Amino acid sequence: MQLYTKILIALIAGVVVGIVANLAGIEPLQDFLVAIGPFGTAWIRLITMIVVPLVVASLLVGTASLGDLRKVGRIGGKTLVYYMATTAVAVTIGLGISNLVRPGSGVDPATRDALAGQFSGEAAQRMTLAAEKPSVVETLLAMIPTNPIQAAADMDLLPLIIFTIIFGAAVSTLDPRLRDPVLRVFEGINEASMVVIDWVMLLAPYAVFALIAAIVAQFGLDLLRSLLVYSVVVVAGLLLHALVTYGLILRFLARLNPGAFFKRIREVPLIAFSTSSSNATLPLTMETAEEEVGVPKEVSSFVLPLGATINMDGTALYQAVAVMFIAQIYGFDMGVGEQLTVVLTATLASVGAAGVPSAGIITLIIVLQSVGLGDQVQAGIALILGVDRILDMLRTAVNVTGDLTASAVIARSEGAELSLSGSQEAEVSEGT
Ligand code: ASP
Repeated sequence: MQLYTKILIALIAGVVVGIVANLAGIEPLQDFLVAIGPFGTAWIRLITMIVVPLVVASLLVGTASLGDLRKVGRIGGKTLVYYMATTAVAVTIGLGISNLVRPGSGVDPATRDALAGQFSGEAAQRMTLAAEKPSVVETLLAMIPTNPIQAAADMDLLPLIIFTIIFGAAVSTLDPRLRDPVLRVFEGINEASMVVIDWVMLLAPYAVFALIAAIVAQFGLDLLRSLLVYSVVVVAGLLLHALVTYGLILRFLARLNPGAFFKRIREVPLIAFSTSSSNATLPLTMETAEEEVGVPKEVSSFVLPLGATINMDGTALYQAVAVMFIAQIYGFDMGVGEQLTVVLTATLASVGAAGVPSAGIITLIIVLQSVGLGDQVQAGIALILGVDRILDMLRTAVNVTGDLTASAVIARSEGAELSLSGSQEAEVSEGT
């Protein structure tokens, strides 16, 4: 049985067992499922463990083999423009559907206040977290690390990327006598990281079961019902963006068959769904781009870690729907001006969101404030917090699919030969 099938079965089993425990109110089973949750968390830690060595080694080898800083600059520029443009499209889709369906119009004020009351404590915590966010200048300055080891230790990917690119470019200028041994060491680290990923992935089905069953047993699906229309709008928007926007981009910009592409990368959104974290999925995203799609390392090693940090189409789309929903539910009029502001701020807020669970709901506060919903922030967040976990899983799946699509587009624009035929697969050690 393929690994993907095993993970999918584990996921479905987790949902079913979780629902049974929750609906039937079988407390011992519920307690057991919550108790095995830490196994899932242990797995997330195992895969996250490899992010820093993999990103540094792969990016260093990638930049050094480009050997030309101008090429790095060109790929960087293209990637940033592409990321911003696709995220703005995602926000526009979110706004469009919310205008059509008006998910906030049907909710009566009593339900609204009951829901908002239930999560008000947790919402206040998120507000405190958001208040600690640094200013724009501080954020820009923080991109230059004063100590790259510190950046690595904090898993602060953006400064680490900046340092590694500069260092890799410097290595490429050295005399081959010095350059080659350095590169060989990092090539070795890169290959060993890939082996670790293959090992950790063998445990993925068990981890996915533990993660999903624990969440469903704990939260149940009750809340989903009261926020059903809102959730359906988010899901519809995400599907539309993943299938239509990415489908068209893959077909016309990457010149790949979208169906075949999605099939080859399908493990990646599944793991993103189960972990709710682009960062935790990053090792698998990088391995998949190189081995399943044939994206050259010099592109994947740069585009993907950057994408996990700043490119979040799913998050931005969700934020657009959330703002419209909260505005509608509180009778706040969102005109063209406000909606254009959302396109801008949601695109930027998704850049600022880290690739970890629930990051999107914290930066959502910025978007709410930007359109004048400042007074409704806490109640609004409390309102949607109940279904945030499940929507987080879905938007993370879209985020990583967007990163992979970008790597294919940028690789193609650099003249790379992409292949979905699986010829690269020979190198993957399957389950040994
Ligand atoms: N969990 C998302 C990610 O890692 C971020 C978010 O939307 O909360 O991509």
